[in-house]
Amino acid sequence: MTLSFDPDSLSLPNGHFIGSRLIEARGELPTHRPSDAKAYWDCPVASADIVDQAVDTAQKALKESGWASLRPRERTKAMQRWADLIEQEAVPLAKMEAVGSTRPVGHLIAGDIAVTAEQIRFFAEFADKEGSDLVPTADDSLGMIMTEAYGVVGAITPWNFPLSMAGWKLAPALAAGNAVVLKPSEITPFSTLYLAELAVRAGLPAGLINIVLGDGPTTGSAITGHPGIAKVSFTGSTAAGAAIMTNIARTGVKPMTLELGGKSPQLVFADADLDMAAGAIATSLLGNAGQACVAGSRLIVEAKVADVLVDAIIARLAAIRPGPTWNEATDYPPIISERQIGRMDSIVRATVDGGAECLAGGKRLDCEGYFYAPTLISGVTATSPAVLEEIFGPVLTIQTFEDEEEALTLADHPTYGLAAGLFTRDLSRAIRLTRRLQAGTVWVNRYGRSRDHILPTGGYKQSGIGKDLGREAYLANRKSKSVLISL
Ligand code: NAD
Repeated sequence: MTLSFDPDSLSLPNGHFIGSRLIEARGELPTHRPSDAKAYWDCPVASADIVDQAVDTAQKALKESGWASLRPRERTKAMQRWADLIEQEAVPLAKMEAVGSTRPVGHLIAGDIAVTAEQIRFFAEFADKEGSDLVPTADDSLGMIMTEAYGVVGAITPWNFPLSMAGWKLAPALAAGNAVVLKPSEITPFSTLYLAELAVRAGLPAGLINIVLGDGPTTGSAITGHPGIAKVSFTGSTAAGAAIMTNIARTGVKPMTLELGGKSPQLVFADADLDMAAGAIATSLLGNAGQACVAGSRLIVEAKVADVLVDAIIARLAAIRPGPTWNEATDYPPIISERQIGRMDSIVRATVDGGAECLAGGKRLDCEGYFYAPTLISGVTATSPAVLEEIFGPVLTIQTFEDEEEALTLADHPTYGLAAGLFTRDLSRAIRLTRRLQAGTVWVNRYGRSRDHILPTGGYKQSGIGKDLGREAYLANRKSKSVLISL
């Protein structure tokens, strides 16, 4: 069976998913398909009233279903049924996701969907494995730390991996006993709507997951500032994260988790397996066309092997198969929008005008849709725009170093600290540098996530506050209460 499909044949939902059903709404924000630049759908914008309705529904669902106080294993079982249904519905889900996003349908089936189902199972298993702790106190008392669900969590997700990002937010929040009001990106909301529908079909209480569509300033702000939202969980740009912090401070204090932007370095030493390093670096540059928060966008290589490594990376770029996300053979997707491709191109131009040199790419691909060639830029400095700014596209800058200190100085970004890669065969050096790299994740002799959901992800510096995935994400969805009983 081929996974390729006709994008005009899909019927796309237009509305908000509140309770157990889609509430139809008028489309307001025109949306273009990145694969062919065609205007195809208008996103509704939920007003503060609609957000109110979603929060009310979530609160009622919590009360009526007793979700937070169920025997935890019941939450586990319900979420496992949801994960099973996601796998059974993989093909329609993949089509919904591929049609207007940058995720090729083949990659969705092989990766994102299976990973999302696995993550749901991973967090579902936490529900009955984290308990209250007894703590040492004097003999005449009993001390313990209890944890409890927050209530309704407000979640906001970006467009780059819509399904996975929704899974990152929903799975720990639900397993921990909360309900969720989630706003997906206004550009790519379909798979998130479908996830919510599948949850109801799998038997999760209606109203536990509510999806409202809209933009940041109207719908996003209505969520983060809503008094019925007990905690905010956000993934997106550092600028939007800062706006959310301001809104939360303005409307009342509440806890938040922020997963923000990155500009991650990859350090390659002369003793590394250069062929393996070139493969990992090229994969990171090409994967989702560089539109990943953890994309390794700054190559920092020991000077004496720079030419060999760069040639090996460039040799790998020829193999890309660009194409529309609805073709099964596509492995190099488009850039999300005309605006984003223009922004990327202007950063590349400004960097080259400042004296840098494009070794590959540096231009749009000659085809319909928003495609940009994988781009390598050398001759940059620490203040070049392509080194400083998060481009969020297939652009890799190249800087060289002579020794470890210089490598670390170049790696240290003034704003971001999301992830870093380190390629060396010297174990002592790997550990020494890992300790000093200012990044929330360090990959040694590989670049990119695995399916080890136990490893938390999150940033240092302005790349974020708190973590997604891992035990930390589960605990971030529960609040702790200290109890001291006098005996
Ligand atoms: P974005 O910040 O423009 O939008 C993200 C989401 O926030 C969208 O749903 C948007 O509507 C909403 N939003 C925007 N302004 C808001 C506001 N003032 N209040 C409430 N909501 C608001 O980001 P994007 O372009 O969708 O995604 C790309 C960014 O996301 C990159 O910076 C990338 O690094 C980051 N990202 C980070 C991670 C991570 O784990 N750290 C993962 C994926 C993406």
